[in-house]
Amino acid sequence: MKKYLLHLIVLLMVQQAATQTPFSRYPVYTGSDLGLQYGERESVFRIWSPTATAAQLQLYREGWGGDSYTVVPMESSVQGTWVAKVKGNLKNVFYTVRVQINGQWSDAVTDPYARAAGINGKRALVLDLKDTNPPGWERDISPAFSATNQPTDAIVYEMHIRDATIHSSSGVQQKGTFAGLAELNTRNAAGETTGLSHLKEMGVTHIHLLPFYDYNSVDETQTGQYNWGYDPVNYNVPEGSYSTNAADGLTRIRELKQMIQTFHASGLRVVMDVVYNHTALLDKSNFNQLVPGYYYRQKADGSFSDATACGNETASERPMFRKFMLESVLYWVKEYHIDGFRFDLMGVHDIETMNLIADTLHKIKPDILLYGEGWTAGESPLPESERAVKKNAHLLKGIAVFSDDIRDGIKGSVFNIADRGFATGKTANTESIKFGVVAACAHPQVHMDAVNYSKVPYAKSPAQVISYCECHDNNILWDKIALSFPEADEATRVRMQQLAYTIVLTSQGISFLHAGSEFLRSKKGEENSYNKGDSINAIDWQLKTIHKPVWRYVQSLIRLRKAHPAFRMRTAEAIARHLRFAENLPAGVVAYTLDGAAVGDAWKQVWVAYNGTATDQWLPMERGGWKAALEQGLQWQEGKVRVPAWGSLILYRE
Ligand code: CA
Repeated sequence: MKKYLLHLIVLLMVQQAATQTPFSRYPVYTGSDLGLQYGERESVFRIWSPTATAAQLQLYREGWGGDSYTVVPMESSVQGTWVAKVKGNLKNVFYTVRVQINGQWSDAVTDPYARAAGINGKRALVLDLKDTNPPGWERDISPAFSATNQPTDAIVYEMHIRDATIHSSSGVQQKGTFAGLAELNTRNAAGETTGLSHLKEMGVTHIHLLPFYDYNSVDETQTGQYNWGYDPVNYNVPEGSYSTNAADGLTRIRELKQMIQTFHASGLRVVMDVVYNHTALLDKSNFNQLVPGYYYRQKADGSFSDATACGNETASERPMFRKFMLESVLYWVKEYHIDGFRFDLMGVHDIETMNLIADTLHKIKPDILLYGEGWTAGESPLPESERAVKKNAHLLKGIAVFSDDIRDGIKGSVFNIADRGFATGKTANTESIKFGVVAACAHPQVHMDAVNYSKVPYAKSPAQVISYCECHDNNILWDKIALSFPEADEATRVRMQQLAYTIVLTSQGISFLHAGSEFLRSKKGEENSYNKGDSINAIDWQLKTIHKPVWRYVQSLIRLRKAHPAFRMRTAEAIARHLRFAENLPAGVVAYTLDGAAVGDAWKQVWVAYNGTATDQWLPMERGGWKAALEQGLQWQEGKVRVPAWGSLILYRE
């Protein structure tokens, strides 16, 4: 008995050691004034570094090169913080901080809470944020995106800032910048709108911009460099290479605000792509120099874990990183009027942190749009049950996850170039399309055992699911279709592309599109273009003229979705009750009826059919009163209606 008890005690101690790190003993700072508090007569700097025995603030005249002109010792303060108060007006002075731990001085690094920085983000900048507001900024408001601004009313369009305008065909003056994307009435040589005016013309509601916080991979002293930017350095500072003057820390802030202001005035909301799951640097990051180890997860052997496949993973469950994430997103919403966040590799973050973020943001902006990737890129030491992965989506409050089920259901696996999807003739994906149509909610007619990835419905509401078929990652849709179906002629591949977009824009959930695919943008077969430069990534606006019928078709789908709440049901219960699939159809064909009258739609009934096969399909349908929703030719024959090969049909009754 004694031996058993001893075993039990040892076991409990081991378990406690596994869940408790030395970091749990670090004091938590509960104030909200970390970083710089600027004043005309005095500026106050506060950092958190609980194991330091000394700390210094270094001041510089320049953002790059030269030595500090003064070094200010920081005083030990409450809850592990260090404070320096400096008299005088420090506007336009650059600064770094360093700490002494175990007798060693750290590198001089930017304050993680920095809001402005010099070139390449090496030194933070003292500023009065009011100086960065463009005229009229205090009157800037986020436009409504529907009558009620429900998440399922959003049609998100994902785009990279440089890609949008850098091509010679864009007609934009300040190519590749925040300012360039704020130019209105720009046109290609044939007179079609480009850039921001194109987005207005398409009618989407939210523009999701790839990372525009300060990232590492582009040297801001150079021009012509390219990267997507998933390698954060200063989370609360805009990226300098999108500015017309990266050396001046205020210009990038002002130009980003001007861009957001112009988007808002154009009826568009702005979603920010955020990457709190890892940092570009590890040992040398500002976080790790100030508090070694604390902000990152470790494996059992003490080495850094890497669930992001980017060299490290942050530890959102530790209070001071949770606090950092929360205060960072709050800052972007309050200071820049951001309308939504896309969380990169959200499956790395813990559910408690994500729900805290969602609750807090919804209190200050009830219609903010939050979604993320419900997966990781590797193993994490934090148990999966505690992380914001797709299968835990039902535990998230007001945060959606990307549905890879419908994405790959439509076009085939992103990890296997040869694999086809429903829109390219893989009839085995039929049930995955049905699961996508109901936005991963429970539905009595969806047979989960035949769905490609998920075996249980993971959403409790369609607002928890992003319905899409592609994003910046992996082959762009037009290339994927060509690579997986090389024998199809161009006219057929256009039909497949349009079928894919029809499925996305008629499915329940939150619609999500990738820039340029509406006019058959290609990346020349490049699967991972994150650093492949403008020649692969730039959006060629001449395609808009060449493929006008395709984007006009996508535009008509967007118009249809916005006009008809039947495609945007708000609850899983409504979908289960008011969306009825036709039974006993051939594999490769999906058809369903939406009860428009029950969900407040002017159309009493809507009938949608997708045909992912190479032959026309004649589906049973009574002729009475049905009209085609889009300009699609209607053919009837003996109580059946024709759904064309690689095509769709949308009918309605008033
Ligand atoms: Ca940068």
